[in-house]
Amino acid sequence: MKKKVVIVGGVAGGASAAARLRRLSEEFEIVLFEKGENISFANCGLPYFIGDVIKNREALLLMTPEKMKARFDIDVRVKSCVIGVDSKNNEVEVETLDGKRYKEGYDFLVLAPGAKPVVPPIKGIESEKIYTLRNVKDMDRIKNKALEIEGKKAAVIGGGFVGIESAENLKHLGLEVSLVEAMDSILSPYDKEMAEFLELELKRNGVNVKTNTKVVEFVEKNDGIEIIYENGEKESVDMVVLAIGVTPDTEFLKGSGIDLGKKGDILVDEKLRTNVENIYAVGDAIVVKNLVTMQDSYIPLAGPANKHGRVVANNIAGKEEKYKESLGTSIIKVFNMVGASTGLNEKTVKGLGREYKKIYLNPNDHANYYPGATPLTIKIVYDAKTEEILGGQVIGVNGVDKVIDVLATVIKFRGTMEELTELELAYAPPFNSPKSPLNMAGFIAENLKEGMFEQIFIEDLKNYDKDRNIIVDVREKFELVVGHLENDINIPLSELRKRVDELPKDKEIWVYCAIGLRGYIASRFLSQKGYKVKNIAGGYKMKK
Ligand code: FAD
Repeated sequence: MKKKVVIVGGVAGGASAAARLRRLSEEFEIVLFEKGENISFANCGLPYFIGDVIKNREALLLMTPEKMKARFDIDVRVKSCVIGVDSKNNEVEVETLDGKRYKEGYDFLVLAPGAKPVVPPIKGIESEKIYTLRNVKDMDRIKNKALEIEGKKAAVIGGGFVGIESAENLKHLGLEVSLVEAMDSILSPYDKEMAEFLELELKRNGVNVKTNTKVVEFVEKNDGIEIIYENGEKESVDMVVLAIGVTPDTEFLKGSGIDLGKKGDILVDEKLRTNVENIYAVGDAIVVKNLVTMQDSYIPLAGPANKHGRVVANNIAGKEEKYKESLGTSIIKVFNMVGASTGLNEKTVKGLGREYKKIYLNPNDHANYYPGATPLTIKIVYDAKTEEILGGQVIGVNGVDKVIDVLATVIKFRGTMEELTELELAYAPPFNSPKSPLNMAGFIAENLKEGMFEQIFIEDLKNYDKDRNIIVDVREKFELVVGHLENDINIPLSELRKRVDELPKDKEIWVYCAIGLRGYIASRFLSQKGYKVKNIAGGYKMKK
């Protein structure tokens, strides 16, 4: 008799597990339960359909139950919610949309229920004018409402990926949009100074970004809804999209004997097995090890979920495979800009008490002389002793995906800053520079290590003391129209050799330019002339 594999949840992790298992073996009966109406839909494309960027709704439905049956002989049952697991008797209890209940036995159970939007107990949260975005049905509701209130106002609560993508796409539909974030900056995987570049891009495109702003109450008013903020401000809008994060959708597992963590996350081992024999779990419902810290980490992203599905199918089919750690590599488009991050950010590394160094650089994505070059801002955090790379963030227009993917690959193999200098990456003028941005990052770290220069950061300017420091701007005069740092003097790099005697030798010089490169050149010159000098990393660009 064929062994029966029951899968709960039919999107990224669940559908991947089902299809892979069938490709591995015809010897299993596979039953997949999905409480929603669709399986295998493109969650990540939902915001873009709202904004009419993706116009074909059907394109989001990557697979149908009928195709799953025809292609893989998988018994897909949509509108069928698994409401309990009896792990002693190897059965799940299912409730269909029309209220029927029945039990289904299994030999192997794969839990892929994903995560649901967090809905905090704020007064008025139950209003019908407040929407969350998880599936195609939610997407349709949001889009219909946005079209109905054409040109009016929406507030998106939460400055994470889903919140920002929702804000951008509601803006595309012509709504007036506020993006409300309780923390001091959007996008928690990024450090504040990096997230600010994306925040500026949102503002440039007309999104009203409110950081440090916490919602305390929603009040329905006539056709709209009033949001009351902790700072006493009020805002009236016509719809709200709530996107303050997700939490594992695992309530149905209570009492099942399957071990859950504090947030309801399913605890699994390296093979993605739960504590109960023959029950596996994948995707946004589980906690995995972070590759850099080797600590438990919640990383609800599509890439890991799909890979978990494959690993579990392999294990059920007897291939014995481990899911190694996750890095949390992610990328987001924000109007005309792109942000990406991998590994740990500085605030996390600091929180761990680990000794670290950081560098910033602002190279172009390809040779400056070839048309269309655009600047990137790169930040890399690395271990102070071993120089192992701990994480990085990249902001720019073009080429962000390439830089972050190479960096993530280097981190995956526990690479160091020195190894960045050795990377040999594809180059021709339209695509890269002979010394690629990540080679340059490696060179900066090497120069720092060898004492070729010292650096300070924009945030260190608060320690400026006129009796001990002098700030020297080496940008050319015409560049000063964009502003300058307080208390500085301007000696353009082109005049520095002639005018060096104007600088006092008894003060530490903090030198800067637009993006850090000419500051470095100036600091080399000055230090060889006997001055004590530090370059302001990333230059004036980091001031914003
Ligand atoms: P899901 O894909 O959520 O699938 C779980 C399914 O299980 C759901 O359909 C649910 O209805 C069903 N289910 C739950 N409980 C039961 C039950 N008891 N019985 C039956 N069925 C059940 N990630 C990225 O990496 N990049 C992106 O750009 C990106 N964009 C996103 C945009 C949006 C709007 C959203 C919502 C998510 C986005 N994600 C993105 C996250 C990504 O979609 C998830 O990490 C991934 O889908 C998780 O896969 P999963 O299989 O664990 O869960």
